[in-house]
Amino acid sequence: MASTSREDRESSSSPLKRVASEPFASRPQNGDHSPQPTSTAPTPKKCMRCSKPFFVQDGVYQRQEECHYHYGKLKWNAKRKSQFFECCDRPRRAGGCERADVHVWKGLTFVNNKHYFGNIVVTKVPKRSQPASVGLPSTISSSFPGVYSMDAEMAFTAYGLELIRLSVVALDGRHVYEAYVRPDNDIVDYNTRYSGLSARELEAFAKKSLKEVQNDLMGFLSANSILIGHGLENDLRVLRMVHQKVIDTSIVFLEAGPNKRTSLRFLAKRYLQKDIQSSRFGHDSVEDALTCMELMLMKVGQDLTKTSTTTTISSH
Ligand SMILES: [Zn+2]
Ligand SMILES: [Zn+2]
Repeated sequence: MASTSREDRESSSSPLKRVASEPFASRPQNGDHSPQPTSTAPTPKKCMRCSKPFFVQDGVYQRQEECHYHYGKLKWNAKRKSQFFECCDRPRRAGGCERADVHVWKGLTFVNNKHYFGNIVVTKVPKRSQPASVGLPSTISSSFPGVYSMDAEMAFTAYGLELIRLSVVALDGRHVYEAYVRPDNDIVDYNTRYSGLSARELEAFAKKSLKEVQNDLMGFLSANSILIGHGLENDLRVLRMVHQKVIDTSIVFLEAGPNKRTSLRFLAKRYLQKDIQSSRFGHDSVEDALTCMELMLMKVGQDLTKTSTTTTISSH
């Protein structure tokens, strides 16, 4: 079934579409900091959308095959006593309601993706004269290493998910960094439903390389900075960045049980009475980063109130 999504409409008319269609026939265009993977026997990948196996070797799709998938979850319908997809209200065995040119994979596990081993940056312990942190309230010393919240948007290349946009907000909510990024490898799917970026928009805005973004971040983050995010490991992976002082709202707010992460959208509604990610044009990384910061400020405020109440009671 032909899709009428914005993603398909826009990508079919974009100049980037021509580039995106080439990985099936040519080598990928690697940038200067992207390692050339060694040639190995192809291992099947599992499409993260439709679960079908497909083959990619050294960044080249071995066969072009359309992906038909459901972007919504399967939900139990008590009245009909059966499961239905929330995207199209079709039953469990129904074919996908969305179409994409290729199958896609996350590729975010280092072990399964040698591509991710190259050019990883590690935040450094600051020397004595730490530069002033960006976006600090004036009441905080300039030696303060900073508390930031970040959110990355990603698109698919043959190597998996890669960074296309990064937003960072500071402790006081100021939007302190924004970058639109051209991945080193050809994009095969813009992931517009989630990334919020179409081929045309990325063509217009994306000026930076991943390496430039890494350099920018190293300019104001140190190993002592606190980074907040939701499912932050994925953001750090596409950034190829190692940072240890992290607070992940998907772990702090374990609403559904120890191994079940709750969506940021749900947390925003529940704790901040805020509707986010409701646009059909995708997520907004600034809004998501700000929401994570607000959630943590709320949580810390609550914890401090509890602590001071406990201290007051026990001191009497
Ligand atoms: Zn569907
Ligand atoms: Zn698929």
